[in-house]
Amino acid sequence: MSLIEVNNLFKIFGKNPTKAQKMLAEGYSKDQILSKLQATVAVNDASFTVEQGELFVVMGLSGSGKSTLIRCLNRLIEPTSGRVIIDGAEVTKMDHNALQDLRRQKISMVFQGFAVFPHMTVLENTAYGLKIRGLPLKERNQKAYETLEMVGLKGWENYYPDQLSGGMKQRVGLARALATEPDILLMDEAFSALDPLIRKEMQNELIQLQNTVRRTIVFITHDLDEALKIGDRIALMKDGAIVQIGTPEEILMNPASNYVEKFVEDVDRSRVLTAEMVMKKPIAVVTYPKDGPRVALRCMRENGISSIFAVDNRFRLQGIVMAEDALEAVEQNQKDLTQILNRDISTVKPDTILKDLFSLLSQNNLPLAVVDNENRLLGIIVRGSVMAKLAEGGGADD
Ligand code: ADP
Ligand code: MG
Repeated sequence: MSLIEVNNLFKIFGKNPTKAQKMLAEGYSKDQILSKLQATVAVNDASFTVEQGELFVVMGLSGSGKSTLIRCLNRLIEPTSGRVIIDGAEVTKMDHNALQDLRRQKISMVFQGFAVFPHMTVLENTAYGLKIRGLPLKERNQKAYETLEMVGLKGWENYYPDQLSGGMKQRVGLARALATEPDILLMDEAFSALDPLIRKEMQNELIQLQNTVRRTIVFITHDLDEALKIGDRIALMKDGAIVQIGTPEEILMNPASNYVEKFVEDVDRSRVLTAEMVMKKPIAVVTYPKDGPRVALRCMRENGISSIFAVDNRFRLQGIVMAEDALEAVEQNQKDLTQILNRDISTVKPDTILKDLFSLLSQNNLPLAVVDNENRLLGIIVRGSVMAKLAEGGGADD
């Protein structure tokens, strides 16, 4: 069972929500409905699930409905129709008390700017949610101390927010949300106002936190880089509708629509990064025709790899050998690699842009070979390292 389940959720602001929904079903656009009815379609038929422990990113341009969607999850905004189910309970049917319990016990929210209380110390800010829950002073302070240490603010407990930098204030906000140990963390552009360096730091912090105290997080951003870096899965919103849901890799490799493709193209570095920047030195190669299947197999075993490139004595690429083929060749007592050398492999040039590598990488699981004009092997590219490079968020050479 998914921790969060959203079914056919609609939110329409303004007049005639029912009529607006009918027009949507008839195929009218958000703009048409706005001019005809003065109703704003903020969320249009959104359905998705979020698994326990997942960091689920909702991404889209400004005005695409992200904030409305996330606020419908705990009904800070009342949906027009549709269902929200959290941990098996239908939120969209909860009465006032049940809803209040849900917000206090299960869900924490972190907004842009974080809204820390200026008249409270860092410690009091952090313990605030626990105070609301009625935890005694000693216990809530202890929990607050622990949480502050977790977000790197040990030693700052008795300072006031205006004595802290922007990044540290964000950490206080994060600590306050984490202190209650919520099942679900809703983060709406929580890092968007930060300057790029601190933002990157916070993203790393969040990833690290997820590796230790795994929470279920719905994280909103309008920044593709951020989404790719931290998201387990990403939902892309446009005009209130979710147009694609997938892992970062799926989104980059198979943009589901022109809109997604454009989004990916607009922001990403896949057009700036080249093969040369993401390639690695091959861990090991064999020489063809000198080396035989035994050498190849041994070399793969020693290096923990399942395929190996073969080059000639001038390092010109000859092909690739798979471990299982080498094993078979050894068993059949073959002396050289001719029978098992796979010559039909994809190669790219050092200046091939990343964007053009995705389809090649998705076609098979073998590493891509980067070769120069004389077909000399310069490096190899594996899927994982491309994603890592993209997620780095920095320039080309760091
Ligand atoms: P995002 O967070 O992606 O920027 P929002 O959810 O804030 O988008 O807004 C989605 C759409 O709903 C926008 O067209 C916005 O103008 C409209 N909207 C948001 N809140 C309200 C409101 N309280 N009243 C009327 N329209 C609203
Ligand atoms: Mg918003």
